[in-house]
Amino acid sequence: MNVSETGRIIDGRAIASQVRGSLLERTSALKAAGSPVRLDAIMVGADQSAGVYAANQARMCDEVGIEYRLHELSGDISQADLENYIDGLNAAPEVTAIMLHMPLPEGIKTEQVQSRILDAKDVEGVNPANIGNVLYGRRSLVPCTALATMTLIESTGIELPGKKVVCIGASNIVGKPVAVLLMRAEATVISTNIHTPDIKSLCRDADVLVSAVGKPGLVTADMVRPGAVIIDVGITRVTDEETGRRYTVGDVDFEQVSPIAGWITPVPGGVGPVTVAMLLRNTVDAADRSG
Ligand code: NAD
Repeated sequence: MNVSETGRIIDGRAIASQVRGSLLERTSALKAAGSPVRLDAIMVGADQSAGVYAANQARMCDEVGIEYRLHELSGDISQADLENYIDGLNAAPEVTAIMLHMPLPEGIKTEQVQSRILDAKDVEGVNPANIGNVLYGRRSLVPCTALATMTLIESTGIELPGKKVVCIGASNIVGKPVAVLLMRAEATVISTNIHTPDIKSLCRDADVLVSAVGKPGLVTADMVRPGAVIIDVGITRVTDEETGRRYTVGDVDFEQVSPIAGWITPVPGGVGPVTVAMLLRNTVDAADRSG
């Protein structure tokens, strides 16, 4: 392989910006036809960082013409009251999309709350009905990070049929749906987890490597096949011991791996911004289908 063919950085911010650009036209058309396009976000027992996140979300929605409503509920709300609250949003025709800010307070059964969100309004794809539809390849709202991962892989132009893909991490919300979407694209997929023996040798054979664990430095140069596509989903906040500065890192040792990889996502600026763009796109899709 020619050296110029390695280490190309996949620009998640640019891809996210393209996706957002295509949404404004769609929201304008929907609103002109009298269809609401609205995202209702629920935050239970708000903390400061969640508040910052919600403010960013409001701004992003505004930019693409989505109406945004934040519901700040008390941290001591009961399971039943929270579920009733969601039922109210499910029934409201002007609410076309619902999302839950995480984490929910201890004592609240998260999966039970997620299952309560009407599947047609579940823009994070957390209702098991939507996850089931992903498996069957039916039209559904797909978890945003999994969609972002696929979008970033596809942006490299790689043809997935006949390619080997290793997914490190197999959570319900990221690793498993990513593996299923890759299977649907007819890639040959190996899903690995904390118990998988000798992950390194599996990875060395991969044309595409997706890491979704949350462990800095997990993916090292000796695990990467020259020219492979590397998608780093991991997000970990770390503190520089000397300066005390806080910053975000992924699972991949970017410095070591990027000269070997064919394509690689940076952290920050890779999967993160595309995940946000996918939430906005799912919101517009949900509004489109509700009309
Ligand atoms: P999780 O903790 O639910 O799952 C982690 C998975 O990694 C599990 O399947 C576990 O078995 C596996 N694992 C743990 N240690 C391992 C090891 N040493 N080797 C192989 N597998 C191992 O996490 P999650 O919710 O799927 O999130 C994973 C990472 O992705 C986190 O860093 C999270 O912050 C990040 N994330 C990023 C985005 C984004 O938008 N970029 C969105 C969601 C999650």
